[in-house]
Amino acid sequence: MSTLEIRDLHVSVGDKEILKGVDLTVQAGKTHAIMGPNGSGKSTLAYAIAGHPKYTITSGSVTLDGEDLLDMSVDERARAGLFLAMQYPVEIPGVSVSNFLRSAVTAVQGEAPKLRQFAKDLKSGMDNLAIDSAFATRNVNEGFSGGEKKRHEILQLELLKPKVAVLDETDSGLDVDALRVVSEGVNRFRASGDTGVLLITHYTRILRYVKPDFVHVFAAGRIVEEGGPELAEKLENEGYEAYTKVSS
Ligand code: ADP
Ligand code: MG
Ligand code: MG
Repeated sequence: MSTLEIRDLHVSVGDKEILKGVDLTVQAGKTHAIMGPNGSGKSTLAYAIAGHPKYTITSGSVTLDGEDLLDMSVDERARAGLFLAMQYPVEIPGVSVSNFLRSAVTAVQGEAPKLRQFAKDLKSGMDNLAIDSAFATRNVNEGFSGGEKKRHEILQLELLKPKVAVLDETDSGLDVDALRVVSEGVNRFRASGDTGVLLITHYTRILRYVKPDFVHVFAAGRIVEEGGPELAEKLENEGYEAYTKVSS
């Protein structure tokens, strides 16, 4: 059973401190929703955990099953079982979805998957997400709609089977049908109970489909309130106003 532990994490961009001491433990089989207003530092948390070079850890620790993630390269973090679905996925010109995913699986597993098995897994993943087969030959994120980008992120989840998945606003910009497909994908992924999910979102909408075990509210670089699923309902009714007033 895997555990991601974040202890007193402080993160700066340039000389501006953005995360001001974040504590969070994510265990396998649990889904944590990170909610909060725009600019509160949610994406910064995701990037810092994933090892984006722009984000400087000034103090604190992040471990996965006791191993120091902050000491690892981005690749090593992925091999250790960490997955990040970015809020704004990047285009990779000249690289097809199918080649990209096969390389990603190879990098994470340490050996290339058998072509036939991979083709089978890819097809079933795409079928699950209601993705047309022609999608596999397109270049990664090039001209993708918002919904296609997010489905592609969930397809990666299905194929890579990480120990901890950090999903940054995977729900943003999705219409209701796409939201349902993406949510079902997340639910399939977490059903094994072997993986922890950090679901970052600004809106409560996705939490109707993906029920969190815990909800944490971010404001100004800190967790300012924590609770169970009922906290998401409170936020749905009351918004973030109470938190932004306190923190500004
Ligand atoms: P959220 O995801 O909650 O909307 P972010 O983590 O994107 O918040 O941003 C938190 C704060 O950090 C904001 O004030 C934002 O302007 C700043 N910030 C984040 N990333 C960068 C960056 N790469 N360069 C400069 N400022 C940044
Ligand atoms: Mg934002
Ligand atoms: Mg963000």
